[in-house]
Amino acid sequence: MNIIFLGPPGAGKGTQSRFLEKRYGVIQISTGDMLRSEVARDSDIGKQVKALMDSGKLVSDHLIIAMIKNRIAQKDCQNGFILDGFPRTEAQAEALDQLLVSEGKKIDAVLFLNVDEDILADRVSGRFTCAVCGKIYNDISNPPRVKGVCDACGSHEFQRRADDKRETVVERLKEYHRSTAPILSFYKKKGCLYTVNGMLPEADVTAEIEAFLKIK
Ligand code: AMP
Repeated sequence: MNIIFLGPPGAGKGTQSRFLEKRYGVIQISTGDMLRSEVARDSDIGKQVKALMDSGKLVSDHLIIAMIKNRIAQKDCQNGFILDGFPRTEAQAEALDQLLVSEGKKIDAVLFLNVDEDILADRVSGRFTCAVCGKIYNDISNPPRVKGVCDACGSHEFQRRADDKRETVVERLKEYHRSTAPILSFYKKKGCLYTVNGMLPEADVTAEIEAFLKIK
């Protein structure tokens, strides 16, 4: 099963795709996570993309497409993959199509998490994650059950993304409208786009996705 999650920053793509990964043994591929790990390693790619990411701009199609091509070819993707944060431009969507044809693969579903714009800035700027297991929290809507302790792994270490600052979120939303929103119609025309109400509680969003995929 190969799935694409689409939606603006803060729509819940990371949360839902991580859940599906754990539950169904398909691999979550987050281009944002891959790039952040390059930045953390201070690699050549990391040096190239850091300023763009910090300012909320997209990195080049060429670089991202090459990264995805390598990643999808790896053995752990044989049972399926969930794309989180890719494609983000029409050029990426078209390149993905060609790549999948050449690999004899296809996308089974494109899930669009629809969330009202006015709640996104709060969602994203209040977001933080466990530094050990990556569980995602929010200051207001989804804090850990015990303050300072991760519900999932008990860690006391948390982190916030540099680009989750309110000013940067505005730029990321602009990029989303300019470059990413147009690919919704690309997938709609192909007949594989399914819209999910991303404003429901997390578990209800998951239930809607599972019902659609009929994998309960
Ligand atoms: P994300 O974690 O998906 O929100 O991505 C964080 C940042 O990484 C984005 O704001 C972009 O700078 C960069 N990025 C991630 N995925 C892509 C992509 N598919 N195309 C271009 N830039 C990307």
